[in-house]
Amino acid sequence: MPMTATGRPLELEASLQYLPGVGPARARNFERLGLTRVEHLLRHYPRTYLDARRFAAVKDLRPGEVLTVSGEVRHAFAHRTRGGRTDLQVGVSDGTGMLGCYFFGQPWLGRSFKTGARVVVSGELDEAGRMLNPLFEVIEDEVAELLHAGRLVPVHALTRGITGRAMRATVRRALDQAADRVADPLPPELEERSSLGTLGEALRQIHFPTDETALARARTRLVFEELFLLQSVMEIRRRVFAQEGRGRVTAGAGEKAQQARAALPFALTDDQARAVEEIVADLRRPYPMHRLLVGDVGSGKTVVALLAALQVVEHGLQVAFMAPTEILARQHLSTLATFARPAGVEVLGLTGSSSAPERRAIQQRLSARDPLILVGTHALIEARVEFPNLGLVIVDEQHRFGVRQRADLAQKGLIPDVLVLSATPIPRTLALAAFGDLEISRLRSRPEGRGRVVTRITGEARRPQVIEFMSRELEAGRQAFVVVPVIEEAGGRPDFRAAEAEFERLGADPMLSRWRLGLLHGRLKSEEKQRVMDGFAGGHIQVLVTTTVIEVGVDVPNATMMVIENAERFGLSQLHQLRGRVGRGSDRSVCVLLPGPTASATARQRLEMLAATQDGYALAEADLELRGPGEVWGMRQSGLPRLKLAHLVRDRELLDQAHTAARAVVSADPHLLLPAHGPLRAALLEAYREALDVALAG
Ligand code: ADP
Ligand code: MG
Repeated sequence: MPMTATGRPLELEASLQYLPGVGPARARNFERLGLTRVEHLLRHYPRTYLDARRFAAVKDLRPGEVLTVSGEVRHAFAHRTRGGRTDLQVGVSDGTGMLGCYFFGQPWLGRSFKTGARVVVSGELDEAGRMLNPLFEVIEDEVAELLHAGRLVPVHALTRGITGRAMRATVRRALDQAADRVADPLPPELEERSSLGTLGEALRQIHFPTDETALARARTRLVFEELFLLQSVMEIRRRVFAQEGRGRVTAGAGEKAQQARAALPFALTDDQARAVEEIVADLRRPYPMHRLLVGDVGSGKTVVALLAALQVVEHGLQVAFMAPTEILARQHLSTLATFARPAGVEVLGLTGSSSAPERRAIQQRLSARDPLILVGTHALIEARVEFPNLGLVIVDEQHRFGVRQRADLAQKGLIPDVLVLSATPIPRTLALAAFGDLEISRLRSRPEGRGRVVTRITGEARRPQVIEFMSRELEAGRQAFVVVPVIEEAGGRPDFRAAEAEFERLGADPMLSRWRLGLLHGRLKSEEKQRVMDGFAGGHIQVLVTTTVIEVGVDVPNATMMVIENAERFGLSQLHQLRGRVGRGSDRSVCVLLPGPTASATARQRLEMLAATQDGYALAEADLELRGPGEVWGMRQSGLPRLKLAHLVRDRELLDQAHTAARAVVSADPHLLLPAHGPLRAALLEAYREALDVALAG
C-alpha cells in the first residue's frame, strides 16, 4: 500500500489535498464536484465504462471499433495547425506497422511520449487510418495494472481542471489508501453482507473492473447498499411517525359522514368505500395517520377525503384541506360545501385573495376551536394561521407533505393526521422508494357512468379537420380544451408565448368565430385566472386555451374535447392526467394529440402507447422505464431520493430485498443503537440527515 509522506495511510475523512499528486490547487477543482474527502472519491462511481480490451496488431486495425495497440513510441512532435492550435502527433510501432496518433491541442502530452517508451493506446481509427485523441498509458512498470487504456476504462464525471486521466489516477490512489477501511454500513447479521462480497472489493471493482462479471457483482453490492440505506430511512420514519402523539383518537362515531354519504347524488364505488374504511380505521387508532390516497384522475378522491374529514369534525376537531392552486381551492370549497351541507358541517375558504376582515373572521373561528373544515392553498399551514384544534390535514396533489412542514406543526405541539391525495398512479417500486414511510390506499376503478375517451394522434396537416370537429362539438353545446406546453426560456423561466400565440391563432380562425375563447396560464393574476375558470365552468367560455395549469383537479364535465399541442413535450403520466380532464360526463370524449413537426419516432411511440390504453398504472410503469422517476413525478415536488447507482426499474428485485432487510434490521433496533449498527447509523445520518433529524437525533 502506498503511504503518505508521513508513512501512515490517510484517514477516510482526510482532505483530498493530502492525497499524493493532489495538493491544494487540485483539491479546489475536485471540490467543484462535491469531492472534498478521501472517502468521497471512493464513492464517486464512474458514469460508464469504455470497453478497450480488444488488443490488435497495427496491421490488423480496422475502423469502426475501439481497439488497443501495445507498442513503442517512434517519434512525437508538436505542430501548429492553420487554425492556430498546437497538436501532438505520435508514431507508435509494434513491429507490424506504424500507427499515427493525434492529440488535438495538447502539446504538453509530448513529455509523456519519449522516443522508445512503451505505450498502450486505445481508440478508433478514422478513415485516414489515424487514431484521434486515443486513450493511452505509458508503461513504466510491466506488472502494474493498466488504468487508462487496454481495459474496461472507467469514465467518471469530471470538471474543469480535472482530466479523465487525473481522475483515474487519483481514484486509484484513494482506493489503495482507503478502500479496505471504509466501514461497511450493512449490518453483520444481513446475509447479503457476506453473499455480495466485501465493500472494499466492490469499491475497487466498480472503479476498475477486471471484467463484466466482477463489475456486475460490485454494482449489485453497491446498489443493494444504496437501496438498503434508503429503505432503512423509510422504515425509521414510518415507525417514528406511527409513534408520535400517542393517545389521540380523531374520529367520531361516523353519523355526520353517514348523513353526507346518504345525500350524495351517487353511490360510492367499492374502492372508495374501502378507502374510507382504511382512513377511518387510522383515525380511530391512537397514532397519527400518514396515508397516501392514490387514484387516477376522476376516480373520486375528493369525496373520500371529505367523508374522512367529517369524522374528524364530528369528533370536535378542525380540518385543513389544502389544494395546490387557488383555482382548485375554490373548486374544492364549492364541492365540499355542497357535500357537507346535509351533515350540517361548515366549510370555509381562505386564499391569497381573502380580505383582511375575512381572514380575521376565520382566525376567530379557528381560535374558538370551532369544529369546521377550512379549505385553502398550501399556504394555509405556512401562513400565520393559528390552528389550535387541528385534527386532520388533507393535502391535494402535492406528493409530499414536507418533513419540515410536519416538524413545524409538531413544534407547535400539533401532530395531526395527514392524508395526501395523489392522481399519479404510482408504480410499486417508486412507491417503495419514495413513499415507503406512508401507508397507501388505492382507488383503481372509475365511477360508473363515465363516457369513453377516444385518443387520436394526428399531424399538422389535419389541423383544419381537428378544428372542424371541434366546432361541431361546440355546436352541440360541448366545450373544449386546447393545451399548449410551456417552453422554458434560458434561465429556467417559463415562457407563455406559445399559449398566447395559440390563443390568437384560434381566435382568428373563422370556423371558431362564433365561440368565446379563454386563455389560462401561470403568468395571469389570480383574479384573472379565476374569471377565466369561472367563465369556462359556467359555460360562457367554450374553448379554453391553457398550459398545464389545468393538469390537476379541474372538473368541467361538459368538456368533451381536448387538443394537446406539441404533445411529445409532455410525459406519459402527465398526458394521461391532462386527458383525464375530459370524459368526466356521460358523453363520449375525444383527446387529439398533435405532435410537433420535430417529434422523434420514439416520441410518437410513446404517444401511441397513450392512445392504446386508459390504464394509468401501465402508463406510469412505462414512463418510469422510459424517462426515469423524476419525470414520472416532476422533480421539484417529488422528494425523490437521489440514487447514484440504483435504477428503480432494473433493480426492482434488489429493492424488494433491501426493503425486507431494512424492515428486519430497524424493527430489531429502531434507533440503531447497537454497536454493530454504528456504521449504518453514521451512513444514514450522513446521507439523509434532514429526513432523519427528528427520528435519530438524541
Ligand atoms: P379526483 O380523484 O380526480 O380528484 P374528483 O374527486 O374530482 O376526482 O371526482 C371527479 C368527479 O366524479 C366529481 O364530479 C365527483 O363528484 C364525481 N364522483 C366521485 N365519486 C363518484 C362516484 N362514486 N360515482 C359517480 N361520480 C362520482
Ligand atoms: Mg382531485
